[in-house]
Amino acid sequence: MSRGKYHILTFGCQMNKSDSERLAAILNRIGLTETGDEQQADVILLNSCSVRQTAEDRIYGQVGKFAELRAKKPNLIVGVTGCMAGRDKNGKMRAKLPGADLFFPTRDMVLLPRWIAGLNPDLVDPVELGDDYLKLTPQYANTVQAYVSVQTGCNKFCTYCVVPHARGLERNRPAADILTEVQGLADRGALEITLLGQAVNAYKAPDRSSFSAANPYKDDYAALLWEINRISGIRRLHWTAPYPTHMTEEVIDALTLPKQVNYLHLPVQAGNDEVLKRMNRRYTSAQYLEIVGRIRTARPNIALGTDIIVGFCGETPEQFEDTVALHKEADFDISYHAMYSTRSGTLAHQYLKDDVAPAEKKRRWNVLQELMEETVLRKNQAYVGREVEVLVDEWSKGYAVGNSREMKRVQFAAPSDCRGQLVNVKVETALEWLLKGQATENAPISMAEALAGRNLVR
Ligand code: SF4
Repeated sequence: MSRGKYHILTFGCQMNKSDSERLAAILNRIGLTETGDEQQADVILLNSCSVRQTAEDRIYGQVGKFAELRAKKPNLIVGVTGCMAGRDKNGKMRAKLPGADLFFPTRDMVLLPRWIAGLNPDLVDPVELGDDYLKLTPQYANTVQAYVSVQTGCNKFCTYCVVPHARGLERNRPAADILTEVQGLADRGALEITLLGQAVNAYKAPDRSSFSAANPYKDDYAALLWEINRISGIRRLHWTAPYPTHMTEEVIDALTLPKQVNYLHLPVQAGNDEVLKRMNRRYTSAQYLEIVGRIRTARPNIALGTDIIVGFCGETPEQFEDTVALHKEADFDISYHAMYSTRSGTLAHQYLKDDVAPAEKKRRWNVLQELMEETVLRKNQAYVGREVEVLVDEWSKGYAVGNSREMKRVQFAAPSDCRGQLVNVKVETALEWLLKGQATENAPISMAEALAGRNLVR
């Protein structure tokens, strides 16, 4: 019988969500059970994000709020992990969190059993978990659409980014571990896998010998994608976020493998070469567009998404116009825009001046947002009359919603709960953020032929 309950609050990116699944696995292993109600919890963990100051401020606010709960529950344990704890080299953030009992970088989560037992010996049994948190099997929040980390950390040191400071240098998981994890998910009924890494396509297998002799690729990431395509049961393979210059010929070729979703999110960040240089992005706008061209030659209908930062240090209005021009030329299906905000500890914070006025950042953000909304609608309208495959993840009052292979949200009438199923839908109406249609009678798309055509059948 459980001796206590835990509650995890996750902030930020998919990598943090995936890490929280490992935190949950640890807490379950030491005999705690999950509760969605923080009032019931004996252990509360906050998995923090440092991408902007507002994200960090939310952690300070939340931890402060738990002080009231502790007044009622003196044995409550509150812990903060994630990027804040990873990048707090001088202890300043820790000092501003007196209400946190634990403050630890993600990689140290394996020590949680010992720390919790130290704070409240009656609550848990200390167990030894080894020294590598990536070896732990996550407690998946969703086993139909699951995240699988292939690496952690980053070597790129984009000047605006906290990740290399918070998570350390790039560390790649053995291919054998990744393939075992994906096989385990397939055995539990997973249909869609999203591979996660900070520069996911820079993946280098520490154990290349784990790849099959028949694997046609020399590029480790393309080889990994090929192996996952062979795992029966998995129907969709998605990955985020690739770095443009690691889109090698073989990785682009792997975009045509049968299980690859018809979507690629390829962050560009800016369309002006001087700005890209100041960001320490290691490509020019022409090189980025050339990569986009090669991707579209290999897979003409692929939907492309990107991330863009506006108002980076020294960005002039003319330089911003280059980003607008690149956006138009790349003809993105979707783009996510951020107004630059300086982060302590980054190279930009140390060496560059955050000199674009907030109102001008907002203006640039609005320009891109308007452009993107027009493009999204125009692109969505091209789906009217077409049939798309939908993996349903929401169902309510006779309507199902899920993602197509292009990662577009699709809604259709469904009399019964069909969450977790693949359904073919003929699109009838296109809105900005939703395609609407009817389920068709067609059987779900068969993959056997496509797999055999790429020599992927075991
Ligand atoms: S590639 Fe750049 S933006 Fe992405 S995680 Fe690494 S340093 Fe940050």
